[in-house]
Amino acid sequence: MSVTPDLSTSLPALRFEIQAQDGEARVGSLTTRRGVIDTPVFMPVGTTGTVKAIRFEQLESDDLDAQIILGNTYHLWLRPGIETIRSCGGLHRFIGWDRALLTDSGGFQVWSLGDLRKITEEGTEFRSHVDGSLQFLSPEVSMEVQAALGSDIVMVFDECAPGNASHEETEKSVGLTARWARRSRVAFDCMQLEGVDTGRVKNSDLSGTQALFGIVQGAGHLDLRRISLQETVEVGFDGYAIGGLSVGEEKSVMFDVIASLTPQMPKTQPRYLMGVGTPQDLVEAVAQGVDMFDCVLPTRNGRTGQAFTSTGKLNVKNARWARDTRPLDEHCGCLVCRRHTRAYLRHLYLAGEMLASILLTHHNLAFFLDTMRGVRQSIRSGDFPKFRREFTERLDANGE
Ligand SMILES: [Zn+2]
Repeated sequence: MSVTPDLSTSLPALRFEIQAQDGEARVGSLTTRRGVIDTPVFMPVGTTGTVKAIRFEQLESDDLDAQIILGNTYHLWLRPGIETIRSCGGLHRFIGWDRALLTDSGGFQVWSLGDLRKITEEGTEFRSHVDGSLQFLSPEVSMEVQAALGSDIVMVFDECAPGNASHEETEKSVGLTARWARRSRVAFDCMQLEGVDTGRVKNSDLSGTQALFGIVQGAGHLDLRRISLQETVEVGFDGYAIGGLSVGEEKSVMFDVIASLTPQMPKTQPRYLMGVGTPQDLVEAVAQGVDMFDCVLPTRNGRTGQAFTSTGKLNVKNARWARDTRPLDEHCGCLVCRRHTRAYLRHLYLAGEMLASILLTHHNLAFFLDTMRGVRQSIRSGDFPKFRREFTERLDANGE
């Protein structure tokens, strides 16, 4: 079913190598056309071409060392628009980031517009949040936009059922997702052959083309999840994502879905859990064999004064930190924790200083990325169960 994108080489777009396994948890390397990503990996979210409140130099620094970030198709398509990004040489050049980029398909963002959108077999019609104009997004349009962005990993255009959707409603959504996955695959392969991808890289080991990931849907219905997985694998992709979680369902439902799906997923390809979650969620999903994550929590919560620490969440506004000279997290070695006190961060936040967002975002990203470094190390040394237990105990012991 799948077509080799670059007929002249027949090389793969990605190479995924599992280096060690501890239970279901696996550590590996995902080689993209723009460098190697150590997995399990956390990918900071750069919605409109910026990971909010942090500079690219910091993302690249040893302190954070983010090997891949996300861009949002929906946002970039509406503003500044793909013609602008294409004429500036693609998203990497436009934003000044040479490392790997993954773009979502826009499906989830359009879905979350609720009553402002209308879904048909052909695609989704909706009103732009920027200027109210009527827009249309489909598998073909999404692949075209992602080719113009030139991201290294492209996501299929899918349909997300609400977390509490009925079996009947979800069944329809899963069927549509499968048909859209096939259309995404066909459109994507055409665009790779036409060479409209702005991020093409010459590479001797890889095709240099974009990689395409499929998305498994099915809300909390395990039978439909399995059908969706089967249909997605039949089409054939470079990696497989679990979508439609963290959309209002119970946490137990989310972990039931992950635990039931991961053993059925292709073992030799990367598994990506979309839009999840807290540091604890990440560690628990790694234990089930998930390799990739993205979430807005570290950046969004950083801007609202919440720090993630090894002993739980810390609300920087709290009066008890007014004269506290300890760092945000005594176990964190990030630049913020090495230099600044809770008292100062609280002061910055209350004074409405933009540095509060910058520093809290930096620490939160450092905490998420360090957690994944610890995860990888412990899987390599066969200590992952101990890491998982101690990580959870420490988080539960304190917090606010
Ligand atoms: Zn820190």
